[in-house]
Amino acid sequence: MPISPPRAWVEINLNNLGKNLETARTSSGCGIMAVVKAGAYGHGLERISKFLEQTGIDFLGVANIGEARRIRDAGVKTPIYLLGATWDEEREEIVARNITPCISTISEADAFNGIAAKYGKVLNVHLAIDTGMGRGGFLPSRIVEQIAELRAMRHLNIEGIASHFSSSDEDEDFTNCQIASFRQVIDDLGGEKQFSWRHLSNSAGILAYPNAGCNLARPGLMLYGVSPITSFQQKLKTVMSLKSRVTMVKTVPKGHSISYGRSYITPRPMKVATVGIGYGDGYPRQVSGKGAEVFIDGKRYPILGRVTMDQLMVALPDDSSIRSGAEVELFGTNIPAMEVAEHAGTIVWEVFTGITPRVERIYL
Ligand code: PLP
Repeated sequence: MPISPPRAWVEINLNNLGKNLETARTSSGCGIMAVVKAGAYGHGLERISKFLEQTGIDFLGVANIGEARRIRDAGVKTPIYLLGATWDEEREEIVARNITPCISTISEADAFNGIAAKYGKVLNVHLAIDTGMGRGGFLPSRIVEQIAELRAMRHLNIEGIASHFSSSDEDEDFTNCQIASFRQVIDDLGGEKQFSWRHLSNSAGILAYPNAGCNLARPGLMLYGVSPITSFQQKLKTVMSLKSRVTMVKTVPKGHSISYGRSYITPRPMKVATVGIGYGDGYPRQVSGKGAEVFIDGKRYPILGRVTMDQLMVALPDDSSIRSGAEVELFGTNIPAMEVAEHAGTIVWEVFTGITPRVERIYL
């Protein structure tokens, strides 16, 4: 029996991902921790991790041990760093697999130290410093008091120190305060030589604050082709294109309602195409009625009415020759993913990570 082509798919351009990685290297002048959490921002965790490993990056950054396990099971050997705090139940596996956690509290450090002792290991850890994200991390005022206790834990090697920007794409003054605070903490803890790795910058930080004084950068979004700051977008190459096909084309009379809730009524007889993708694939329903467009055969066409779970409707001109089977780009090289995010009232990170498993990932 023949296998039918997918209804909806993403094309992922690995060559462009490699170019964006080079931009992250040259802009930051740092080693690279490629952030591959959330399925490499929807691009496919294992495949992207394997590709990045071949480029010689220093770390892969993940959100949890489940992601780290999948990367290791795929045969990837690059050091893996856990970007957030951990639960008690997760720590033994973290130690056993030599994953590098960031440490936010003495009790977390103590627990890792005890498990590492049991395994007869010295575990590499990085200190997380909360310079203004208000998530994980030691407060700058506390770490200076607590460092001696941490350094006395003989089964931990404090290999690095890290912090995270909360608004590097929108608030220059606050970002500069975070940079200054991080540098001060490093000085207070004995200077740069105390830490093999010092890291702070996400994509916006790498692009707009290249002199943050670190030697490791943590790009996520920019690797996947989108700059959080529009003025740097021209430095990056599109990686992901979300695509589907026209399922049918028909002409409906004037006054005909389109989609759930009848939010669009045709002002005249209209040619309407249905497209085989919907919010069940991760194309955001929130774009409905917000002027979002799709790209078919060299031109943009507006979406009509509400996006449904598996299909959406598009207006075609009366003389259009578009037929069932025509390829449709929802975002990618012709329609920036940022534009879809704006129509949906969200951020590109959410659009990428919202692409669901039924959408086939095709690597170019
Ligand atoms: N570092 C940390 C701690 C993060 O949580 C993230 C993503 O949320 C990143 C780096 C990468 O951020 P971006 O995708 O903006 O480059």
